[in-house]
Amino acid sequence: MENSYTDTQLFINGQWKDAQAKETIDVINPATEIVIGKMAHARKADLDEALSAADKAFIKWKNINSFERYKVLRKAANLLRERSSEIARIMTIEHGKPIGESLAEVNLSADITDWLGEESRRAYGRLVPSRSSDIYQMVVKEPVGPVAGFSPWNFPINQAVRKIGGAVAAGCSIIIKGPEETPASCAELVKAYADAGVPEGVINLVYGIPSEISEYLIPHPVIRKISFTGSTSVGKLLASMAGLHMKLVTMELGGHAPAIIFGDANVDNAVQLIANNKFRNAGQVCVSPTRFLVHESLYEKFVDGFIKVSESQVVGNGLDPKTTMGPLAHDRRLDAMEMFVSDAIGKGAKIKTGGKRKGNKGYFFEPTVLTDVPTNARMMNEEPFGPLAPITPFQSFDEVVKEANRLPYGLAAFAFTNSSKTAEKISSSIESGIVSVNQPWMPVVEVPFGGIKDSGYGRELGTEGLEAYMLSKFITQKSSI
Ligand code: NAD
Repeated sequence: MENSYTDTQLFINGQWKDAQAKETIDVINPATEIVIGKMAHARKADLDEALSAADKAFIKWKNINSFERYKVLRKAANLLRERSSEIARIMTIEHGKPIGESLAEVNLSADITDWLGEESRRAYGRLVPSRSSDIYQMVVKEPVGPVAGFSPWNFPINQAVRKIGGAVAAGCSIIIKGPEETPASCAELVKAYADAGVPEGVINLVYGIPSEISEYLIPHPVIRKISFTGSTSVGKLLASMAGLHMKLVTMELGGHAPAIIFGDANVDNAVQLIANNKFRNAGQVCVSPTRFLVHESLYEKFVDGFIKVSESQVVGNGLDPKTTMGPLAHDRRLDAMEMFVSDAIGKGAKIKTGGKRKGNKGYFFEPTVLTDVPTNARMMNEEPFGPLAPITPFQSFDEVVKEANRLPYGLAAFAFTNSSKTAEKISSSIESGIVSVNQPWMPVVEVPFGGIKDSGYGRELGTEGLEAYMLSKFITQKSSI
């Protein structure tokens, strides 16, 4: 029972179904490398069916009043909570993350669903005073239209729910390309929405070859908005395609968060908070702290503390409640970790702990701490997306700001200081969509999430998370002619 896993079908026009060509893709448990199931592989014929369903459903759904939409989202949120242990179990089997993290993700996704449903009741327009007494001017919010969403494997539900929840709450329909590495938990999310009463065609779920699906959906005239979460390189490709076809875009892309420890910080507390945060989801988090920049006066203590936290991680199968860090989600990440580490060593870096694959079954990689990593090492420039922690000393405020802002990324940044003046100064100096001071920040539904520069544009969550799926329409009327 603990390891049971069912195959995943496509969800099109309110029906769970195999792909028309009956093609499938294998799903692998990253902790065991065993094929545990299959998912249906959509091709153009399936996408055409989803496009036609989304097109028809949009006309009806956009005219359902927001109170009715809110009730459906609220029910979906409650179903997610009721089913949370089973969905978390499925997520851990196909993704690898510790069961507690899976459970927290399902509950956060329920909260996101609630929030977006509630926000749909507050999608206010405005009355604008006119220059004539017999003319009134009104700005109303309208759903943008059918959406194509592309969501990744690192948070199988938490990424998809921002797109599905935002679109559905706003009155849009959506075709979501779920994560091929972790299809079944994402399908459980869609099931909760369907069981809550989302009408047929409003949500359509497909899997397949990502480029084949995006190249077909993005230019398609039915689709009016693109929302993508994933790497910067793919995001730039999709954004340029969307631009060519004049489609609205939200891009949640990669990050390379600096974590700055100033000389006046409590180093023991800071290292506990930030090092444990590093290993959440095995570091496969776009807002993961990545470049640790520590004032020289605390450097040695911080490195020692980080090594202790790293060595205390229990790396293993996420189903074991003692596990604090699971395997990487797929073999590409394992190859990437080996590449990043050997590249850094070749350029003079020192491994303080970890640095290699753990065991020879499952995609486990040791929590790794490195020092003396030069700025031309690949891990200091590309998103490592794994359990690697390069730690570098700094001397002055200006020097650390320069390093923090050196990269084209700008998603999240962390700082630790006991001076409110430094906190204020660093928050305004950092080029980043999110700045977190004295805490290992975790996404919360009430505030916007997103980056600047190469980390993308547009926001999810917060009031912006609904706005992203709506457009303003201006209506003006003269009382008579
Ligand atoms: P990848 O770049 O091939 O894929 C990243 C995501 O984009 C996946 O979900 C994939 O299905 C999707 N994708 C890839 N090509 C696509 C296309 N042409 N059209 C539509 N979707 C496409 O890399 P990967 O090996 O899966 O992950 C590695 C990198 O991706 C990581 O290093 C990280 O930088 C990034 N990533 C970021 C996030 C995030 O939360 N921002 C999530 C997952 C992966």
